[in-house]
Amino acid sequence: MIYDYHVHTNHSFDSQAVMNEVCAEAVRCGIQEICFTEHYAVNPVLPTYGHLNFEHYIHEIENARERYAGQLKIKIGIELCEPHHMQTQYQAVLANQPLDFILGSVHNMDERKLRLFLAQEGINHYDLYFKEVLKMVECADIDVMAHLDLLKRYAVGTVGNYKLEDHQEVIEAILQTAIARNIGIEINTSGWRSGVDQSFPSSEVLQLYRQLGGELLTLGSDSHFVEHTGAGIADAIALAKQCGFQSIYTYHQRQPQAIALD
Ligand SMILES: [Zn+2]
Ligand SMILES: [Zn+2]
Repeated sequence: MIYDYHVHTNHSFDSQAVMNEVCAEAVRCGIQEICFTEHYAVNPVLPTYGHLNFEHYIHEIENARERYAGQLKIKIGIELCEPHHMQTQYQAVLANQPLDFILGSVHNMDERKLRLFLAQEGINHYDLYFKEVLKMVECADIDVMAHLDLLKRYAVGTVGNYKLEDHQEVIEAILQTAIARNIGIEINTSGWRSGVDQSFPSSEVLQLYRQLGGELLTLGSDSHFVEHTGAGIADAIALAKQCGFQSIYTYHQRQPQAIALD
């Protein structure tokens, strides 16, 4: 059983992958269901801004659904940059889109990309980052938080990884707020393909979410290349079980549906 709920194509500014080729690769790899989650931002200063054309995106998904009918389920998702900022603008655009799934991400801090943010902020970078994630989960209209501890990807080569115990309070607040608002988390496998060599978030954070009563969990490769479609999902299933999850989730028109892990 492979469900990949974090996939980019050339509808995202930072991917060249062609949707049809991604779908063909998904079928080849035995993936049952894929959810495209293209980058989207309403803030004109962000690099993501202005790339996605919803009409073209949804039209291409509808074509792919016909072409791969009976072989692959395809869902319409989106990955929003800082959806707790400019909420009115996000709402205005998204209200009329037939979305199955919304990922919320902190890709920028005060409109700076994370690499620049790290270079400019001497200390407290993780603390500031997690506080921004907390703001997002407190008020954004999202289904799942993407790559909860993404900052470590950029920090690991310079200031290093973080320890959960150093940020226990803010991370617990993030997870408790998520649980209270029915927002899930994902196991993002792209960390295993980067220098971090850990999933986003780490197993300790996944375990903590489970211990606090969290159940909503999706699995995503965060692939930007055809050949990464479904990458690491089998390992993510093993990790989910290890962390005490009994199910993973898919989404249909933004409603979570449990898939039992055996
Ligand atoms: Zn992302
Ligand atoms: Zn992504």
